Amino acid sequence: VQEEIGQLKEKPAVTIDGMRVELFGNIGKPEEALSVVEKGGQGIGLFRTEFLYMDRNQLPSEEEQFQAYKKAAESMGGMPCIIRTLDIGGDKQIKSLELPAEENPFLGYRAIRICLKEVEVFKTQLKAILRASTYGTLKIMFPMISGIEELRAAKKILAEVKNDLDEKSIPYDRNIQVGIMIEIPSAAITADILAKEADFFSIGTNDLCQYSLAVDRMNENVSYLYNPMHPGVLRLIKNVIEAGHEAGIKVGMCGEMASNVESAAVLLGLGLDEFSMAPSSIPYIKKAICNLTFEKAGDIAENVLKISDAAQIRIYVKERLNAD
Ligand code: PEP
Ligand code: MG
Repeated sequence: VQEEIGQLKEKPAVTIDGMRVELFGNIGKPEEALSVVEKGGQGIGLFRTEFLYMDRNQLPSEEEQFQAYKKAAESMGGMPCIIRTLDIGGDKQIKSLELPAEENPFLGYRAIRICLKEVEVFKTQLKAILRASTYGTLKIMFPMISGIEELRAAKKILAEVKNDLDEKSIPYDRNIQVGIMIEIPSAAITADILAKEADFFSIGTNDLCQYSLAVDRMNENVSYLYNPMHPGVLRLIKNVIEAGHEAGIKVGMCGEMASNVESAAVLLGLGLDEFSMAPSSIPYIKKAICNLTFEKAGDIAENVLKISDAAQIRIYVKERLNAD
């Protein structure tokens, strides 16, 4: 198996019948970009930028952020790198912003909600990303978008930052793509509306499962209910992929679900364009995709959507994948 995985490193993820998908890596520090390349990934589907803000008393400067994003961009040698803007709050606290104690932190003041209020903090990050964008292929992704107003508000702030840079003649990639995470049920259901104003989607199943199934992703007492293959979650994902494709944009996934062999087969069949995961998972998912036909994955997905029992879905997919 190791040998086979080694041989796959340089190859793209293509099914037996020629359907190519993107296999990307998730990183939390710029140094990790190299391990994505090392494991045979063709891009970064999620650069979590929280590390820059955590375990310290002061906010990171624009220059410090610029260096981190530049390093990630350069390490990828032109391959895409999706930088997610600050996703703090929820379970992640920082000392440099006084965030209120909340009854329901996951339903509270977090991510884009904070950025739209702490505009200077947001602008500093956006400026650093834009400045770094001339060193590779960077894309910007906003987390926790619940509806079109938030996307518009975030893009308006981005436009102001671009104006600022223009006035100072500081270069940046003028065609930089701006996408959003789909990780809140309202966003998944209104994906058709959002797709008209976003350049790409990335489905965050860690949160999408938590919110659609009403299961705290950290609570072991209810973890038995946390199932990305639940028919409710699968229908949301199907809707997001269809709405994205209808509008002509790519749909990826950066939640854990993309790194599971059985769910990856279903996602492939549903038409997912890009799978992003921990670098160590890339070879296994690449092998699984290269051993499947798109036709069979499509058939598996179609049948899975007819199964009503969440537990039966995984059993069915396992059986199909082991069949020949
Ligand atoms: C997700 O919610 O699926 C996701 C990728 O974001 P995070 O795990 O950082 O919340
Ligand atoms: Mg999330």
